[in-house]
Amino acid sequence: MHSLKAGEKLVLATHNAGKYRENAELLAPYGLEVLSAGDLGLPEPEETGDSFVANAVLKAKAACEATGLPAIADDSGLDVPALDGQPGIYTARWAGPGRDFMVAMERVHRELGDSPDRRGIFVCNLSVVWPDGQTASFEGRLEGTLVWPVRGDRGFGFDPMFQPKGFDITFGEMDPAKKHAMSHRALAFAQLSEALLEPA
Ligand code: IMP
Repeated sequence: MHSLKAGEKLVLATHNAGKYRENAELLAPYGLEVLSAGDLGLPEPEETGDSFVANAVLKAKAACEATGLPAIADDSGLDVPALDGQPGIYTARWAGPGRDFMVAMERVHRELGDSPDRRGIFVCNLSVVWPDGQTASFEGRLEGTLVWPVRGDRGFGFDPMFQPKGFDITFGEMDPAKKHAMSHRALAFAQLSEALLEPA
């Protein structure tokens, strides 16, 4: 399998500023030159896959083909067991065209009703695609409790509703460095770095 070496250029195939920030910070110690698909003006492909991994590969492949560079894509979302895994791969769509996550969190709260099962599982799939077509995928999952009312204004997306297991604060209230060290994204990234990266 290929690796990713210090000094190499790489595209982060995301148009989501929160995801770009978190992934760029995770990649920072490895000395790669990290470009963003959003900043490069690459089109955002339609997420037609039926799983996190399928959508991550589709996004990484599109960015790799458009730039000729290796690309990493992050497909992530919130899996709610009491809602049969929804919103899952449709997490971003639940926020509507205005990408208003308060709307999406209200919908989860409403659909949960008085269900005693308040678990939420954040899932992050990180997939890398190289110009020769080689692909590598890594997935992290983190369980927490979905709280209402939501708390905190840090992070992004569903962070204010998600209280990781074993903690009494939400990701929206947590110091970002602490979130980044334990999140579903960090869990996926730890596998990716073990397989593909060497510290600079
Ligand atoms: P997509 O991967 O672009 O389809 O979007 C995934 C959506 O999941 C994001 O827009 C967020 O709402 C949500 N999400 C993914 N990761 C996180 C996170 O770390 N915190 C909060 N919400 C997240």
